[in-house]
Amino acid sequence: MGVRYCDFKDLDRSDFDAVVVGSGFAGAVAARELAERGGARVLVIEKRSHIGGNMYDELDEAGVLVHRYGPHIFHTNDKRAFDYVRRFTEWRDYEHEVLADWYGTYLPVPFNKNSMEIAFGEERAAHLTQKLIDAFGDERKVTITELREQDDPELSEIADFVYRNVFLYYTQKQWGLTPEEVDPSVTARVPVFVSRDNRYFQDAYQGMPAEGYTPLFERMLESEGILVCLNTEAESVFDLEFASGAEDAPLSAILIKGAPFQGPIVYTGPLDELFLSRFGRLPYRSLEFAWETHDVEHVLPCGTVNFTVTEDYTRITEFKHLTGQAHPKTTIMKEYSRPYEDPLRQIPYYAILSDENRAHYERYRALTAPLANFHPLGRLAEYRYYNMDVIIGRALALADELVPGLEGRR
Ligand code: FAD
Ligand code: UDP
Repeated sequence: MGVRYCDFKDLDRSDFDAVVVGSGFAGAVAARELAERGGARVLVIEKRSHIGGNMYDELDEAGVLVHRYGPHIFHTNDKRAFDYVRRFTEWRDYEHEVLADWYGTYLPVPFNKNSMEIAFGEERAAHLTQKLIDAFGDERKVTITELREQDDPELSEIADFVYRNVFLYYTQKQWGLTPEEVDPSVTARVPVFVSRDNRYFQDAYQGMPAEGYTPLFERMLESEGILVCLNTEAESVFDLEFASGAEDAPLSAILIKGAPFQGPIVYTGPLDELFLSRFGRLPYRSLEFAWETHDVEHVLPCGTVNFTVTEDYTRITEFKHLTGQAHPKTTIMKEYSRPYEDPLRQIPYYAILSDENRAHYERYRALTAPLANFHPLGRLAEYRYYNMDVIIGRALALADELVPGLEGRR
């Protein structure tokens, strides 16, 4: 059957019972669940020319499978999320490894016992590693913030090394901020690991969709109950009605084709854009990608190399390590982090976590809170730094909440 694509102008309001804005994991899982479990006819509105959100992948000109919006590796401890995505496609085993390019020498990241030996030499590393074990325990993860708080001079020496050579420049490039200035949960994603384990993630379930993410999304959205409108912005479909004319008056209804829409609306775009940024734009970081295809099978020793002390870009990814594709050529991608300034040209990739930005977000959230059928979901709409598995879990939980109401309406 394939995905049922449509043009919004050809639809009547009676053609759908639920609306989902966005077709990334948040939108696609919600749409599938509302259609399948709730029996709803779901309209998916997507402003890009394709489904899949930031997970979208495709063959490039050379025939190499690439992730167009940055490298995406699936990893989770949430069995429900993993079982869910396994329904739609075969998965290949893949465990991501990252190396830091340290002035031409590779150090495993997260910084671990192996990195320690490369950085400090075997003998000194053995001594320092023992200090880490005594302080924190073996096979333990320690955040750079925690490590820097230690008074012991040798632990400070390790902390100082890792801070300067792994975190400082990379974080400045990625966020335009120092590690002290970013929310501690951000650098805590990549702790020091007192271990020989070189994997980037230690989750129980890890892998990649065997044929890529786009076919996975095609199968999720392929359903009698789902219609997808591409190249369509929520702003062009919704008319917002407010309780009063005051700037902070909450939404009282969302009108679609001239009348209040009563069914569930799952919104996975940025919340500020829905309100034309009336309280100012929410801060995000964007990315710019530079692509290179090389006439050899591989150019990097692993999936991603982080440039922690040199270069303007943060990291290079070689997709063939992730996808397992056999091909005589290879494509790599350099990532440059940028301030998000132009919604027409740029994509908001990362919410910038801080108390101030959270309060800013909450002003927008308060506008939607009284509208019981409006459900902000996902990395953009919730202004959070979520991985894919968390989004899938949250979409499934939202469906658990909404499905009984839909069944009642049938
Ligand atoms: P998105 O994927 O952003 O989907 C939102 C969709 O809504 C988009 O298709 C967008 O076009 C559409 N949309 C937005 N506004 C509107 C509008 N107004 N009207 C219509 N449509 C609209 N997670 C992992 O688990 N592992 C990884 O390895 C990993 N790597 C990442 C690498 C990068 C560079 C980035 C930025 C993120 C990475 N993530 C990773 C996180 C992952 O991308 C997110 O968890 C996931 O994209 C969230 O899905 P989503 O549906 O919330 O958002
Ligand atoms: N980080 C760093 N050096 C590294 C890897 C990560 O400084 O080699 C910091 C940086 O601030 C980064 C954060 O840790 O933004 C989270 O890294 P992660 O790899 O989880 O980022 P993502 O893949 O989400 O971009």
